[in-house]
Amino acid sequence: MAEALALFETADEPAYLAGGHTLIPVMKNHLAAPDRLIDLRAIPELGGIARRADSLRIGAAVSHAKIAASPPVRAAIPALAALAGSIGDVQVRNMGTIGGSLAHNDPAADYPAAVLALGARVATDRRTLAAEDFFEGLFGTALEDGEIIRHVELPVPAAAGYAKFRNPASRYALVAAFVARAPDGAARVAITGAGSDGVFRWAEAEAALGAAFAAPALDGLTPSDAQMLDDIHAAADERAALCASMTARAVMRPGRASIF
Ligand SMILES: Cc1cc2nc3c(=O)[nH]c(=O)nc-3n(C[C@H](O)[C@H](O)[C@H](O)COP(=O)(O)OP(=O)(O)OC[C@H]3O[C@@H](n4cnc5c(N)ncnc54)[C@H](O)[C@@H]3O)c2cc1C
Repeated sequence: MAEALALFETADEPAYLAGGHTLIPVMKNHLAAPDRLIDLRAIPELGGIARRADSLRIGAAVSHAKIAASPPVRAAIPALAALAGSIGDVQVRNMGTIGGSLAHNDPAADYPAAVLALGARVATDRRTLAAEDFFEGLFGTALEDGEIIRHVELPVPAAAGYAKFRNPASRYALVAAFVARAPDGAARVAITGAGSDGVFRWAEAEAALGAAFAAPALDGLTPSDAQMLDDIHAAADERAALCASMTARAVMRPGRASIF
């Protein structure tokens, strides 16, 4: 870690490299031209998956494939393992990492929904951030220049489900919902792919599911079109309708991922 941080300090335009499955395409498109790439993948502190008393700790450099196949993840938060297994294709899952995905905060990425719905904490080389404080709009995070995500600490829920309606071309989420019920019965719902300001919590659905954790509790609820993305892939009202149906699907199949 110390070497990576020092290498960052002594270059003009450095960039950390993890799986490279976002950064390398960005460089190929001439949207970034770092003069030094600092490979994080072999740093021991960024590896590993550990089950703790009431949470899972996942190192930032752990690949999507390892999360999908991990026995502790499959036992504690099976919807998270299924989510990881739904990302991109085999190549993407073998190379891409949870830390890289969170640092990039693509508005259609999968992990931000799980991290926000589970109330996870993101630990860096200098502090620990609640999920609510980590994500800052489209492609924005609270990370400071040179800050490295070390791991993510995800509280183990009583139940959780994930439902994703994919863009058939890119396979990123057009709309996806991660729903979690905490051990005290509180429900959290996070939506990715749909929000004009990136991943967001859907408060009305959380209140309804807190009262009764079942799909009928969501009847008649739809988030406002005004907070939806509206682009060539889907109109705002289509995305709002998908928020409702994906959230209901996630509740109907706890422990699973429903991929459409
Ligand atoms: C064809 C294709 C399909 C895809 N489909 C999906 C999909 O369905 N769902 C989905 O969610 N994603 C998808 N992705 C994105 C994929 O999951 C990426 O791997 C991921 O977003 C970035 O992770 P990475 O490890 O590759 O990061 P990199 O590309 O190496 O880095 C991305 C950014 O994060 C920074 N970074 C990396 N690690 C850290 C760290 N520990 N601390 C601080 N900063 C860090 C880098 O400096 C860079 O700015 C797809 C990508 C491709 C190419």
